[in-house]
Amino acid sequence: MRLFDTHAHYDDPAFDADRAALLEALPGRGVAHVVNMGCDPASSRTAIGLAETYPWIHAAVGLHPENAGQFSDAVLAEIRELARHPRVLAIGEIGLDYHYPTPEREIQRAAFRAQLALARETGLPACVHSRDAHAETLAIISEFPEVRGVVHCYTGAREMAKELTDLGWYIGFTGIVSFKNSKKARLVAESLPCDRILIETDCPYLAPEPLRGRRCDSSMLPYTAAAVAAVRGMETQALIEQTYQNACRFYGLDPD
Ligand SMILES: [Zn+2]
Repeated sequence: MRLFDTHAHYDDPAFDADRAALLEALPGRGVAHVVNMGCDPASSRTAIGLAETYPWIHAAVGLHPENAGQFSDAVLAEIRELARHPRVLAIGEIGLDYHYPTPEREIQRAAFRAQLALARETGLPACVHSRDAHAETLAIISEFPEVRGVVHCYTGAREMAKELTDLGWYIGFTGIVSFKNSKKARLVAESLPCDRILIETDCPYLAPEPLRGRRCDSSMLPYTAAAVAAVRGMETQALIEQTYQNACRFYGLDPD
């Protein structure tokens, strides 16, 4: 079994007590690769530090929409500089989050556009967060036809997922796809071309059933894989291997 956790936050304080022991144990639990997101310049630097310490961890660098209030030319320049590091595989986590009134939507859109332009400039894929902003996320993504990316923790409609995969984008599923009330996510998982599906933890949050509510880590990915495999009528092992191949293609890693 080779698991690829395409989206994680091991820099989160939830891992402070046992981070090193947990990360060192991952390969023994079938986890071959993890991409740790950056949510601002500081956490992007932490992600790179983790990637320098553990060969199975890789980094993404970016400014999360929740932190878009920090957006400035200086912050963008810092992320651009960090993106040059050889262990950085993507620009992320970027996107739009309209769940709360702040940061203002205008600055979120500016930060998102600037970082999609950075993805275009660097040739790196984009890891996109979209919450209560699906139509606008798709509209802005469409302005950057040269950029490949994933909409992670996908909770949108099937129609939009199809538009994204038609653009060459990927769809990421967290433990949410295993939750009882997540029929919509399962309908999307059922409908996608098999080469566009990624699985992820978004840990420390969103542990899949039957572990829901616990602190999540990459070793729990088989439960998420099982939920996706079930709706597609596949064996879990086959889904795990398919998504491993997809993630290697997406992040530009050699699958062997
Ligand atoms: Zn995330």
